[in-house]
Amino acid sequence: MNVPFADLHAQYLSIKDEIDAAIADVIARSAFIRGPQVEYFEAAFANEIGTDHCVSCGNGTDALYIAMVALGLKPGDEVIVPAMSWISTSETVTQAGGRPVFCEIDAETYTIAPGSIEALISERTVGIIPVHLYGQPADMDPIMDIAGRRGLWVIEDCAQAHLARYRGQTVGTFGVAATFSFYPGKNLGAMGDAGAIVTNDAALADRMAMFARHGGLVKGDHQIEGINSRLDGLQAAILSVKLPYLAGWTNARQRLAMSYSDALADLTFINLPRVAQDRDSVWHLYVIQTERRDALAKHLKERGIATSVNYPRALPFLPCYAGYAHPADAFPHASRLADQGLALPLFAEMTEHQQRHVISALAEFI
Ligand SMILES: *Cc1c(COP(=O)(O)O)cnc(C)c1O
Repeated sequence: MNVPFADLHAQYLSIKDEIDAAIADVIARSAFIRGPQVEYFEAAFANEIGTDHCVSCGNGTDALYIAMVALGLKPGDEVIVPAMSWISTSETVTQAGGRPVFCEIDAETYTIAPGSIEALISERTVGIIPVHLYGQPADMDPIMDIAGRRGLWVIEDCAQAHLARYRGQTVGTFGVAATFSFYPGKNLGAMGDAGAIVTNDAALADRMAMFARHGGLVKGDHQIEGINSRLDGLQAAILSVKLPYLAGWTNARQRLAMSYSDALADLTFINLPRVAQDRDSVWHLYVIQTERRDALAKHLKERGIATSVNYPRALPFLPCYAGYAHPADAFPHASRLADQGLALPLFAEMTEHQQRHVISALAEFI
């Protein structure tokens, strides 16, 4: 039996008629760029997250870049980012003219460790980008407290955490802005690249939309130089079909994660992912840790089970950041996750049968 890491086709088949009709409608109207589908999705997504504005864009990486440019990042400005994330979180700081400063993660939740942030703040620090990694919210209360006291902005990187909640509040509503990715494999995925930024700040929303659209909201009227980063009509239509299903898919992920945690509790060779009591993870990934990670991945692969290592190296130790010359033991929690983390298959359409196969294959590993 084969268990894929995720099954995008199964999700498509479950809503095929609606998706096909939505795509046909965009084509019939030739509404490929902007147009009613894009406007509809922006309003629907802002409503779902609970913010006043949603500015759609080409992908989740651009979303971070656009937000930082619109916040006025200047050359030399420093932005604190977690040592474990996808590279978008740090590379966009550099793209926007700043310098990423890496912060250790919490050993249990894998999200930025609030207790390590203040020591990193310098005269050049302007902001913090917490990442709700693998679907679990970062510890937002102390992060917002530090930001408030030190006059820093917070952009939440919500690429992996659509609808996750911290103390009952949906992520994406804490910072001055929050960025989302709709990369196909994300919890809410398009059929291509797509992204968005949400905010309650109307002026910021305008600046972001303007920058993403060649620096002008009216054709020919370029107030500034911008970039071209657009959510296209087809992706917007697809995302609008999927959005009402997201809560149900999230429940399915949460049930599957609970089943894994119950069934794997007795396996002493693996450490299970832990969610802090005050947080609702949306389980973008179910990441276990084991010292025998590579052998375990091979064992599972031989039994037809796909796994993934997200991410094999902590950000500060990627070749592109060699210039920082961080000592090898500078981020022990992030490094341990890079060395020992293994994501098991988990997707809303996963069957009980598939999950049992993964669980018994894990139990067989000696
Ligand atoms: C996926 C992801 C991004 C970037 O999204 P893209 O749409 O692929 O550009 C940014 N941050 C995190 C944490 C991600 O997982």
